[in-house]
Amino acid sequence: MKTKTIALVAHDNRKEDLREWVAYNYRKLLPNRLVCTGTTGKLVKETIEKNLEGKESMDFDITLLKSGPLGGDQQLGAMIAEGKIDMVIFLWDPMEPQPHDVDVKALLRITVLNNVPTASNRSTADYMITSPLFESDYTPVLKDYSSYINRPL
Ligand code: PGA
Repeated sequence: MKTKTIALVAHDNRKEDLREWVAYNYRKLLPNRLVCTGTTGKLVKETIEKNLEGKESMDFDITLLKSGPLGGDQQLGAMIAEGKIDMVIFLWDPMEPQPHDVDVKALLRITVLNNVPTASNRSTADYMITSPLFESDYTPVLKDYSSYINRPL
C-alpha cells in the first residue's frame, strides 16, 4: 500500500463530525501521514490516541500546522502547491462566515488547481477512504500550464 499524506481540517461546527469520522476510520488512517490545522490536529491526535490506548503503539505520523485562522490554511495551501498532499478532508461550515474566509477560498482553489481529491463533507470522505484508489498508487493528472507560464509579456 502506498503511504499517503492526508490533510484533515474542520471548522468548529464540523469538528464533531470529523472526530466521529476519525474514530471510525483511524485504522485506515494510521499507516499514512496526517497533516492538520492546529486545533483540528489536537482533536484528531486525541481521538486516535483514545482509540489506541492500551492496545498498541501510540506511534503515528501527525503534523500540526498553525490554527487555520492564524495561518494554518495558508501553510496547508503551500504544501498543496508543492505537491506534498495526496488528499484533503476539509469539513467546512456552510452556515457561518469565518474570519479567514479568504484563506478558506484560497485553500479550496489550490486543491482544484492541483487536482487533489478533496472532501467537503462526511459522505465524500466516506467514498474517498473506501475507494480502491485510497490504498494504491495514484498520481493526479495535472493540467499543462506551460503556455500560461511562458506567456509573452
Ligand atoms: P483549526 O482551523 O483546526 O485550527 O480550528 C480550522 C480552519 O481552517 O478553520
